[in-house]
Amino acid sequence: MMYHSTRDKSVRVSAAQAIAQGISKEGGLFVPVELPLFDMMKLMRYESMGYASRAQDILAAFLTDFSADELRECVHSAYGTHRFDHERIAPIFPLGDTMRLLELWHGPTCAFKDMALQLLPHLLTRAVKKTMGGKHTAILVATSGDTGKAALDGFADVPDTSILVFYPHGGVSEVQRLQMATQKGNNTTVVAVRGNFDDTQTAVKKIFTNHDMNKMLADKGMVFSSANSINWGRLVPQIVYYISAYCDMAGAGDIQMGEKINICVPTGNFGNILAAYYAKHMGLPVNMLICASNVNKVLSDFIETGVYDRRREFVLTSSPSMDILISSNLERLLFALCGEDDKMVADMMGSLTQTGVYTIPDAAREKLQSEFAGGFCDEQKTGETIRGIFELHGYLCDTHTAVAVDVHRQYMERTGDKTKTLIASTANPYKFAAGILPVFERAAPGASEFAQIRRLREISGMEVPEQLLELEGKDIRFDTVCGADEMESAVRQALKK
Ligand SMILES: *Cc1c(COP(=O)(O)O)cnc(C)c1O
Repeated sequence: MMYHSTRDKSVRVSAAQAIAQGISKEGGLFVPVELPLFDMMKLMRYESMGYASRAQDILAAFLTDFSADELRECVHSAYGTHRFDHERIAPIFPLGDTMRLLELWHGPTCAFKDMALQLLPHLLTRAVKKTMGGKHTAILVATSGDTGKAALDGFADVPDTSILVFYPHGGVSEVQRLQMATQKGNNTTVVAVRGNFDDTQTAVKKIFTNHDMNKMLADKGMVFSSANSINWGRLVPQIVYYISAYCDMAGAGDIQMGEKINICVPTGNFGNILAAYYAKHMGLPVNMLICASNVNKVLSDFIETGVYDRRREFVLTSSPSMDILISSNLERLLFALCGEDDKMVADMMGSLTQTGVYTIPDAAREKLQSEFAGGFCDEQKTGETIRGIFELHGYLCDTHTAVAVDVHRQYMERTGDKTKTLIASTANPYKFAAGILPVFERAAPGASEFAQIRRLREISGMEVPEQLLELEGKDIRFDTVCGADEMESAVRQALKK
């Protein structure tokens, strides 16, 4: 299977090249020239398989230049029970008749990013060996909080890699900050950036395509790559869990094999929901894809109007991993919606950079609206939803998941559609304890993050993952703060080590 770029279809690369490179030279994103198709027979065969075996089979359809042995090694290293604290890897929790929470946070860093980032280092190091003869790879990451830690955990002390993570200063939860600032490993660097996530992500993308930086790297015998969801190697593992969850639902008799479901995803950079879109277009029986935003609702407005307009206030919320106004992966969807017109995509992306806005053609908007529904949930509703779910089901969900649950409820009220819906539950609630505790009671004045975590545990009775409690006593290794314009020199500095 070959991949081409959303901004230049004449660029053709193998899967290994796409993963090793991360982003195409002209700034476009790699997408498969054709999606593999899955039939019901295949899904039925998956019913009796475990998560790792399903993953291996799905990856094989996309990563055709990896051998079966390589893929087996990769998935077994990634999805062993020593890395995930649940034997099913991504279990489903039913919430009433229609909602099915797909818990994607049983990995080492307690957010869904682990689902892909436990696997990516194994794929990436092999991909670099295949395509570049094993150069040292410098992985640059922009994070709204969860990707950073998951990537650090995945890449720490992986031979022949360095990893640099940039996160918005003051724009992540305290647990997220501590997870990154205390990261171990000789090849890791973490820097806070004065600015928001969009500033950080834009600066990282610029470094990837900056000629001087690439030359400096080449002189050292190194290459850049990305662990953000612009890297195709992040998206394929995310396709796996939607297919796998569908097979679990069918296997448990919750749905008939072949019955259509909806999928609702709390969305920021549009990676997670895009994976669901690809799963659907590979033949997974899915009807609507419901895109849930917090008050940074650039995406739900886009779905409603066909106009993408980031010229608005950037708001910090209790669901910080969705505080994003420039959703990178939307570019891949636009490419599909606009009949794979690479020039049109390049123009729209240019317009977004220059003016902050673009409009898709009517035909593309109609296609978009036939497959996607959007909605948003504000801070107050997020809190009410967490409380409502707890009172009704005795279940504590995180702020991001709550946004999705509320948007799904709004969708049901608006449309009367009672189709069973898989809702991506993207983080363990204790990552955002300070955002959740006030839903139940006012925090004691001056209470530390960990005091709030313990109080939330008393209220909910839900266990706190060991790795979050352990953060309390750990030493801070990284406390550098820089401006977006200083990120280049931070990269140079880190690569000197
Ligand atoms: C990253 C993240 C999201 C948003 O996912 P995208 O793929 O960026 O749309 C939602 N919730 C949590 C907890 C996250 O970490």
